[in-house]
Amino acid sequence: MNSISIAFIGGGNMARALIGGLCRGGHPPAAIHVAEPAAAARERLAADHGVQVTSNNSHAAAGAEVIVLAVKPQVMDGVLRELRSALQPGALVISVAAGVTLASLRRGLGDAARLVRAMPNTPALFGAGMTGLVAADGVEPDDRARADRVLESAGETVWLDDEALMDVVTAVSGSGPAYFFALAEQLALAGERAGLAPAVAAKLARQTAFGAGTMLSRAEQSAGQLREQVTSPGGTTEAALTALSAGGFEDLIEQAVSAAVRRGRELG
Ligand code: NAD
Repeated sequence: MNSISIAFIGGGNMARALIGGLCRGGHPPAAIHVAEPAAAARERLAADHGVQVTSNNSHAAAGAEVIVLAVKPQVMDGVLRELRSALQPGALVISVAAGVTLASLRRGLGDAARLVRAMPNTPALFGAGMTGLVAADGVEPDDRARADRVLESAGETVWLDDEALMDVVTAVSGSGPAYFFALAEQLALAGERAGLAPAVAAKLARQTAFGAGTMLSRAEQSAGQLREQVTSPGGTTEAALTALSAGGFEDLIEQAVSAAVRRGRELG
């Protein structure tokens, strides 16, 4: 895997996150090609990572065993038209574009293409991403392993059997970081209203979010078990959680996720 040749179409934020992770993981930069129209972005990628850069999408894709489509959904149709005749047989195409379906990738690239659709999230930019993946018919276990290796360079992956669930992945992990940011924001504001200086309240909220996230990712217990462990009967945490429940916390989270799922289906 380490020496397979990977082409990125689009060299923006998500591509940089994946390229950085791949290079840190030992993937040879010479085996990574990036097609990016902006000269400044090309120069930065070449300087930071030593990858091969070009402004020509077909040139980057020709000869690549894995092609990562990391462009905005609005330009995807044009990109697919360019790539259709450039793909080598057996090449695996992974799209990270939000909302672009396997059917539309298939329409653009033809029946022979091996297709994987990925939904990463923003923490991928810090190597802490969560990516949902779904494969089109014709994708082999070996292709899945390659897709995992590319996306695991920016965090964790999970495979879904049903593409319709990508809207739920989007609602939980795609939009999810914003829910945690909103919680940290409100926690800091509440601390301020209770008397803390703004900078102190913000620091407490940020570091607490980081600490809780670290425990969630490293501890063996589930989120529910961790919550129970820090909630002594009759204590301050229990008082706070009781107030959250009384205010409809559980229902609100469910409504929030449902709203995001509905919106994803409307957009998709
Ligand atoms: P970005 O704007 O940073 O990167 C897109 C890059 O594509 C730009 O550098 C742009 O110059 C280049 N580009 C434009 N037209 C092109 C063309 N015709 N051919 C080749 N390259 C072209 O955007 P991003 O945040 O990296 O997002 C890329 C994709 O990743 C999007 O489809 C987005 O939905 C998806 N995504 C991003 C995130 C995220 O956190 N950034 C999360 C989930 C999904």
